[in-house]
Amino acid sequence: MPLFLFNFVACILSFCNITEDPKLLYLPINHSNMNHKRSWAEPYKIKMVELLKMTNLKDRIKAIKEAGFNTFLLKSEDVYIDLLTDSGTNAMSDQQWSAFMVGDEAYAGSKSFYHMEKAVQKYYGYKHMIPTHQGRGAENILSKILIKPGDIIPGNMYFTTTRLHQELSGGTFADIIIDEAHDPLSNHPFKGNVDFQKLEDLIKKYGSDKIPYISIATNVNMAGGQPISMANLRELRTFTRIHGIRIIHDMTRVAENAYFIQQREAEFHSRSIAEIVKEICSYTDGATMSAKKDALVNIGGFIATNEWDVYEEARNLVVVYEGLHTYGGLAGRDMEAIAVGIRESLDDNHQHARVGQVEYLGNKMLEFGIPIVLPVGGHGIFVDAKAFLPHLTQDQFPAQALAAEVYIDSGVRTMERGVVSAGRKADGTNYYPKLELVRFTIPRRVYTQAHMDVIAESVANVYDRRKKIRGMKMVYEPKYLRFFQARFTKL
Ligand SMILES: *Cc1c(COP(=O)(O)O)cnc(C)c1O
Repeated sequence: MPLFLFNFVACILSFCNITEDPKLLYLPINHSNMNHKRSWAEPYKIKMVELLKMTNLKDRIKAIKEAGFNTFLLKSEDVYIDLLTDSGTNAMSDQQWSAFMVGDEAYAGSKSFYHMEKAVQKYYGYKHMIPTHQGRGAENILSKILIKPGDIIPGNMYFTTTRLHQELSGGTFADIIIDEAHDPLSNHPFKGNVDFQKLEDLIKKYGSDKIPYISIATNVNMAGGQPISMANLRELRTFTRIHGIRIIHDMTRVAENAYFIQQREAEFHSRSIAEIVKEICSYTDGATMSAKKDALVNIGGFIATNEWDVYEEARNLVVVYEGLHTYGGLAGRDMEAIAVGIRESLDDNHQHARVGQVEYLGNKMLEFGIPIVLPVGGHGIFVDAKAFLPHLTQDQFPAQALAAEVYIDSGVRTMERGVVSAGRKADGTNYYPKLELVRFTIPRRVYTQAHMDVIAESVANVYDRRKKIRGMKMVYEPKYLRFFQARFTKL
């Protein structure tokens, strides 16, 4: 589709959505405390650089073949710009590195644990915190505590590890996100919102006692880094109070979500990200966190809860799976760096530059006519592989094929977020998600604007020869989370 037509459709769609609710005005960047004419430039300068190996076409073709056309199986040495994930790939600040040096490595009762606990209590407002080695460690423990076989866990879209832990505990995930989240062309400002009709239907069908909690992700990863609005969350809190259901917060990108609330919900234009984050958390009963995203570290996570009983049980279980409850699989220095990273993630200028860089890349791709998920999300650009490669069926893994082609073109590593990531149902049949995407995830504080230019130019290059791109066949499929290790050949 030509660019003007693409924009026109997006514009019409966005108009339809926005007029539904006058409170949800989708406004352009509008910081009351910022100069409107300034762009998103970084609030830091660079003290140390990491040299990259520049790759050539011949070596890239060899490398991707050896990796079974799965970007997860590439060696990072063979990658030029690594957009596989924003998880654990952030650049730490000088403050975080110096915090590393004062990490207290005591087995029990480390000072660093108390610093991290204090940061979680102060900035997020949760009462109790237990560290874990990363987000899925927290999900494992919380799912074991809260879910009984036969339970239903509604959520604003699934996440791979979150849903797997729910299923391993005998639960079933149920999607209650608004339909717009599944439509890459919908310009809805809050695609992470909950559809209350879907939730009510579930309660009618199963009863609220079969629903131990509702899982709410802030900035919905699988929808393309899309936010939930404060209005929707407040309504959900009222609703869940009536029905006696908990809200568990998958708070991996809560600060990015808060940034969108600040930009797009009129009530919050002059509130700080720190204030908005605290209010979001106040409407939930507990959380799992992967600190590898928002909190600007390379490893770490935690469970947070306001309930003493849940805390007690989690403290017991964490010893089995992670480590003592005052380190949960982390070094003291990791907990120290998380405490600093949480504070830095809530800085308005940091988030302005963070999301600004992602928007810059998105606009660049739109200029080239590339079909991407709109509006641009918080942590990356999601290219619509179905629209990019309309000649391929979903069984030919279009997103997997596209990610391989982009790597071959420029050494830019992305990942598949489509039918491979969605995996199989308990009965063995494939999930066929509506969204078949290639994710270009931007690590925080790592790459420059010139890198963004190279990425967009490379995708444009692949777009020019898209009709020649062939589909894939899966030749090896692991049992769990197959996208990590599956292997493919070209059809
Ligand atoms: C990354 C992520 C997780 C899991 O966290 P890990 O640290 O990778 O184990 C859970 N939920 C969401 C939304 C995520 O993005």
